[in-house]
Amino acid sequence: MTKKRPITIARGDGIGPEIMEATLNILDKAGAMIEPEFIDIGEKVYLSGNTTGISDEAWDSLRRTKVFLKSPITTPQGGGYKSLNVTIRKSLGLFANVRPNVSYAPFVQTKHPNMDMVIIRENEEDLYAGIEHQQTPEVVQCLKLISRPGTEKIVRYAFEYARKNNRKKVTCMSKDNIMKITDGLFHKVFDEVSKDYPEIETDHWIIDIGMAKVADTPQDFDVVVTLNLYGDIVSDVAAQVAGSVGLAGSANIGDNIAMFEAIHGSAPDIAGKGIANPSGLLHGAIMMLVHIGQPDVAVRIHNAWLKTLEDEIFTGDVAKGRPSVGTAEFSEAVIARL
Ligand code: NAD
Repeated sequence: MTKKRPITIARGDGIGPEIMEATLNILDKAGAMIEPEFIDIGEKVYLSGNTTGISDEAWDSLRRTKVFLKSPITTPQGGGYKSLNVTIRKSLGLFANVRPNVSYAPFVQTKHPNMDMVIIRENEEDLYAGIEHQQTPEVVQCLKLISRPGTEKIVRYAFEYARKNNRKKVTCMSKDNIMKITDGLFHKVFDEVSKDYPEIETDHWIIDIGMAKVADTPQDFDVVVTLNLYGDIVSDVAAQVAGSVGLAGSANIGDNIAMFEAIHGSAPDIAGKGIANPSGLLHGAIMMLVHIGQPDVAVRIHNAWLKTLEDEIFTGDVAKGRPSVGTAEFSEAVIARL
């Protein structure tokens, strides 16, 4: 019998605990061999006076298990609090943010039934490097940092991902017509690295028109690699265009540690109501199962989830006028189809 794999788990804030409970129930009933190690992060930790939002014990757990399943957290408004998501990604070297966006038509309503794209977002550099200054009382500055090693790493990851997953095309998106040195370096490195993958088609779009095309003809895209800020925005657009931000999961991949989550936030507007869609976190968990070598369990869960949609069992965000069920009922429906 396979030994249980220790996993660090954070229930998060807002809808976090509800969707985590639903996801862990499904994983348990599907036979996932995991040993949860729960940590507190987010609001509770911030409000205890720790401005980083994460304790030393939580870091110890992450460095020990090397696999993190995380619910969304709420970053308190106002100065003095660091974004924990950015801190975790940078501290653990999670350089690649992989965000698949697939349409599940006709069950999930979308104008784009043939969409199947994967956004690979650089996760550590760019305007998220966290270097912001007050230059004068009236002028503020945020530094955009792009490095050749960082760019090479993410671009090569995107091509390797395409090769491994039998994808045909990798698209680069940048704004190198304006930011000729920073975005220019990203585009240049993309062209250089692409030469090592002659079997994969490539193209490049300036980010503004590229994003417009994702909103209009997402079926034309396969794998997209882009800088941190653009990737953050384009992946939310792509998830919404596919049907709902509540559906998409993401993998944050580093050399030694990986973190899996939903792409959405803690949705305080619906927290505690038991109506949140657990599918985004469940998709993160499915990617986690593949990562830890339990792909059979991942497939079983994904098939049961698809069958649930086929049987027209939806949470409110996806139902769009059709009858809907709550978080727990949805997860029970998935479990019944395992
Ligand atoms: P959000 O993604 O939490 O919510 C946007 C809208 O989508 C809301 O109307 C919400 O009800 C809906 N929604 C989101 N997830 C849903 C789900 N699973 N089921 C049904 N509906 C869902 O974005 P926001 O309101 O801008 O952010 C709220 C908080 O989340 C903020 O504090 C923000 O900093 C944080 N946040 C955290 C993460 C993370 O932890 N990875 C990511 C994004 C935002």
